[in-house]
Amino acid sequence: MSMSQAQLSALVQRVLQRVEDGGGGRIAAVAGGGTVEGVYPTLDAAVAAANKAQQTLEWHRSMADRSRIIEAMRAMMRDNLETIARLAVEETGLGRVDHKVIKNRLVTNKTPGTEDLTSQVWTGDHGLTLYEFAPWGVIGAICPTTNPSETVICNAIGMIAAGNAVVFQPHPSAKRVTHLTIGLLNRAIVSAGGPPDLITTIAEPTMDTATALMKHPGIRLLVVTGGPGVVKAAMASGKKTIAAGPGNPPSLCDETADLEKAARDMVNGASFDNNIICCDEKEFIAVASIADALKGHMRQAGAFEADADQTERLMKAILATDRGPGQHSDVNKKFVGKDASVILREIGINVGPEVKMVLAEVNRNHTLLHTEQLMPVIPFTRVRDFHEGLELAREVEHGYGHTSSIHSRRIDRMSEMARVMNTAIFVKNGAHYSGLGEGGEGPTSFTIAHPTGEGLTYARHFSRMRRCALVDALRIV
Ligand code: NAD
Repeated sequence: MSMSQAQLSALVQRVLQRVEDGGGGRIAAVAGGGTVEGVYPTLDAAVAAANKAQQTLEWHRSMADRSRIIEAMRAMMRDNLETIARLAVEETGLGRVDHKVIKNRLVTNKTPGTEDLTSQVWTGDHGLTLYEFAPWGVIGAICPTTNPSETVICNAIGMIAAGNAVVFQPHPSAKRVTHLTIGLLNRAIVSAGGPPDLITTIAEPTMDTATALMKHPGIRLLVVTGGPGVVKAAMASGKKTIAAGPGNPPSLCDETADLEKAARDMVNGASFDNNIICCDEKEFIAVASIADALKGHMRQAGAFEADADQTERLMKAILATDRGPGQHSDVNKKFVGKDASVILREIGINVGPEVKMVLAEVNRNHTLLHTEQLMPVIPFTRVRDFHEGLELAREVEHGYGHTSSIHSRRIDRMSEMARVMNTAIFVKNGAHYSGLGEGGEGPTSFTIAHPTGEGLTYARHFSRMRRCALVDALRIV
């Protein structure tokens, strides 16, 4: 599946040219045997093409064919991680190339394929009953700007494994990288014997095309990944919806933790892709007796600690509106996903790339504790003891049920916090990305559907459950 640099450049150029031309139909075949398909000028055309492809997949391809297609998609993405990561940072201005390579590799390798679909069988005196995972048909998937290619890769693998086609709505400010990822995946699908157009998209995505996708009669299932607005709109659409929304994940460290390791994990987690991943640590809470020691280890691990005056100046820069104590504020988009050095330069502090994040000690009512900042400026609050910390963690998580963590050696506290927080992802003694399978066990997904309850979403969630009863026969005993 490896592409030469020349082939890749030609492909990138064709996809980008198509985007600049404003669509106009399918992209023609390219050298190397595959086709670059999928970018359509209208939503109707994108849905119609995906529908045709889905029927071919469901009726004329086997499960083994689907597995081969998924393997080809993985191989194609492995060969193009760096290109995709660079384009994502260049186009969106968010995050870091090295971390985007890690994220794209994670979804490429650890998103489950057809192996996620395990049928069930019941047998008895009255025969045999099958319970199987069937496709929905054409899925409409809306992507965020924070993980544009990662969401396409993991959604496409899971959705196609389950026998669906998908029409993606790129975030308008991540259009080029989304189109390129779709072009590469379609090329892999066709080269593995799959139908063209299993993945389609719109040449010029806008808020209107997102709304139209939610209402389109050809879309059977909506899968949306983004902030509160898109989740609310999708859930009001009347269609079956899997919604992955915002969070504000706290990380609590108690006096029994291995402080050096906890500090390293917390700093690495909170600074991962400059904090734009929804499950990244967004606030630190520490028991007072170890708070100073923990901060010392955090500074060693790459945190710059802002003093009170610097913190105040930083807030003026990074908050667009400060709604005051205990309230969620709006952040200044100019600093979302930027390096810590860029943010600090705004208040006249020059640091090098060794600084991964800014640490700002604040009181428990500070607006930054309550705000999903999506940038590497992390509030740090000290509490009397574990129980006060747990209460604060619960308050700042705002009941999203997204992600939280504890650093502790007390098993009873790990269990209590897991129960009380009730989040889709709970991490014990690790960075939050471990909960996505990066440095932790288990499969991955970048669509964490906490509002609709699926949690991390895989092929099985993109399936309709169907049952077939074979009455009084077909047993072997
Ligand atoms: P965003 O909500 O601005 O955009 C996401 C997508 O939804 C875009 O394609 C956008 O065009 C569309 N959209 C936005 N509002 C809409 C509306 N009212 N109607 C129709 N479409 C609409 O989000 P973003 O800035 O791209 O991403 C960051 C947000 O997404 C953060 O809040 C983050 O926590 C969340 N997120 C969640 C997950 C998860 O798995 N739970 C994953 C990634 C991002």
